[in-house]
Parts: sequence; structure tokens; C-alpha cells
Amino acid sequence: MDPNKSETDGYEYPCGQVPKLNATLLRSLFTFKTMAVITSSIALALLGSAAHGDTLLFVVMLWRNWNQFHFFSTSIEKDLEDTTGKIEVNNASDILPVANTSMSSGLLDYYYLKDIHYFVASSLLGSYALFFVVGGFLQWNYYIRQRNRPQDWKCQPTRFLTKENERHEFLMGVVCLLFNGSLSGVTSAYVYNGGPYLKVYYDIQEYGWIYFIFSTVALFLFQDAGAYYYHRMLHFPFLYRNFHKWHHRYHSPTAFSAVAMHPVESLVFQMILLFPMVLFPIHFVSVVGCFYYIYYFGLVDHSGVDLTSIWPWQPPVMFHDDHHKHFHVNFGFNTLLFDRFHDTLRRKDREYSESFFYGKGRELKKSN
Ligand SMILES: [Zn+2]
Ligand SMILES: [Zn+2]
Repeated sequence: MDPNKSETDGYEYPCGQVPKLNATLLRSLFTFKTMAVITSSIALALLGSAAHGDTLLFVVMLWRNWNQFHFFSTSIEKDLEDTTGKIEVNNASDILPVANTSMSSGLLDYYYLKDIHYFVASSLLGSYALFFVVGGFLQWNYYIRQRNRPQDWKCQPTRFLTKENERHEFLMGVVCLLFNGSLSGVTSAYVYNGGPYLKVYYDIQEYGWIYFIFSTVALFLFQDAGAYYYHRMLHFPFLYRNFHKWHHRYHSPTAFSAVAMHPVESLVFQMILLFPMVLFPIHFVSVVGCFYYIYYFGLVDHSGVDLTSIWPWQPPVMFHDDHHKHFHVNFGFNTLLFDRFHDTLRRKDREYSESFFYGKGRELKKSN
């Protein structure tokens, strides 16, 4: 048996471990530090959704379909509500406006996009407001207020982005938001006008709890697979040099780096995330849960703070940090499944650089 076998194995990326619920943990939930962690987690999730321009979309989806929204209620409660005459809904399309198919009512009406300009403007205004306020607060709290003691919080205490790269990632975030916020505004107008292709449903009883759990897992895996294969494709030489390299100039990334990329790359990524909503029926809670999960960990994974999540399937921050350090390896985001399957996890017996493409690196030269 080879005694050095462990040295040639892949790097360890221990996924999170769910803490055991006990009295100490329960007490710690109410400490100031825990509250600060919860507050910054909410701030990060909000910033993530704003930076992807999707906040308005979720608000419009819930607002437009509020009367159908049932998550914990039983069908008996629903029947009672129906008999009181408050709601009478048999089908999602019953309460949605049917677009006027007459061409005289305008092309926008015909394509379920009436008042699109209001939706795009609101989406952009809301997203930029959250981006500047929440993003500004996080930047101030960590990168300005605590800049002189990085050893307390930073993964790479001796490395900061250059001023030029800080300006670049902020500018790219603003530009990407223009594209993504506009896409979200268009989708919001489509939802508001009762566009027929979205398969999001709001009443848990419509498909039952087993389908709800199954479809949530399917959505999560679909988005993780989409992100992996899209990201891996972006590392092909042509796409890398012309698009994805913009994102890889941040060698010690900050949370803002998560959304700083070529606008075309950002827009296509957003479309991949939204795509399952036209593919199979998904409950609104699953949609919001999966999106906010992805946004939250997208920012955390770029924060440069060496953290491990409590979710057993979520790789630690170090996993994507290594992607920025070693370039063409570790392509996944929210699980290690696809990197394991395609053998693209970073390995100890290989070396990596920006010029070694395709995820396998190069075998280390043996020194005698
Ligand atoms: Zn990459
Ligand atoms: Zn990245």
C-alpha cells in the first residue's frame, strides 16, 4: 500500500455540519453576536437579490397572487374560505387577467407586457437603492471600519483588492444591475399581466407536500447543475479570455465581486436561474427560498472570510476562494456533486495556473 496515498488525494472541502440543538445553542441564539450574524445574513441575502435585480419580481409575484397563496392551510380551511365568498379560485388562470389579443390594444398588451416601463423603472430604482444602502453598509462595516484589524475577520489578512480593482468591481456591479434589473422588470410586467408560461403555483394543496419537497430539491439541483455547466463552459479558452476573465481579476474577492462580471455573462446566468420557472410547477416559497439561498451564498463565497456553512451540502468559502486563486478548477457553487462527478476538484498532486485549462491542472513534476 502506498504510504503517501493521502498526499495525492484531493483537497478536503468539509461541507457544513448541522449543530446539535441543545440548551447552550438555544441560549447562544439570543446573544448580541448571534443577532449581529442574523442581521448581516439578512442584509447579505437582500443585497444578493438586489444585485441580481430580482427583488421586484418576487414582490410582484406574491402581490399579484396573494389570494391564492396558501402554504400551511389545509384544504378544509380553504373550502371554508371559499364558501364565505371571499375567494373562489379553482384554477390559477381564473383570477389572472387575460391579455387582450386584439392587435389594436397594442403590441405590449398582446405580449402581456402592459406598463413595462413602470416595472423596469421600479425594478432598477429599488435594486439600486438596496445595492447602495445595504452594500454601502457592509463595505463600511468590514472594509473601512475594521480595515486595520483584518486578522480578526479576513481570510487573506495580508491581501486586499487594489483601489483600481475596487472601483472596477463596483462599476461592473452597477452595469450588471442595469441588465439584470431590466430583465427582472420585464419578467415582473409579464407576471403582473398574467403571462401564461410561468408555472409558479401558490397553493400548497394544488400538488401536495410530497411534490413540494421533490420539486424544491429538483429546482435546487437544476440550478446548481446549470451554474456548474455554464461556469465550466465559461472556462473554455475563448469564452474565458473574452468574458469570464473580467470576473477573475479579483484574486482576493470581496462580496461585491460576486456580481462583478461581464454583463453578457451575468444576464445569461440570470436566465439560467429563471429558466426552471417555465419548465415545471414550483411553489412560490421554493422559488424564493432557492433564489435567496443562491444569492446569499454567492456573496458569502466571495467575501474572503473563511466560513463554513451549517448546511451539510454547502462547500466552505475556501472552495470558491481556491477557484479564484487557481482559476480552472472547483467550478461548482452550492454542492460538490458535479465537481466530484467530473473530477474537477482541486487535487494535491496537481498544479494549476491561468494557462492550464479544462479543470484538471497539470501533474506536478516529481523532484527525484
Ligand atoms: Zn470562474
Ligand atoms: Zn467567483
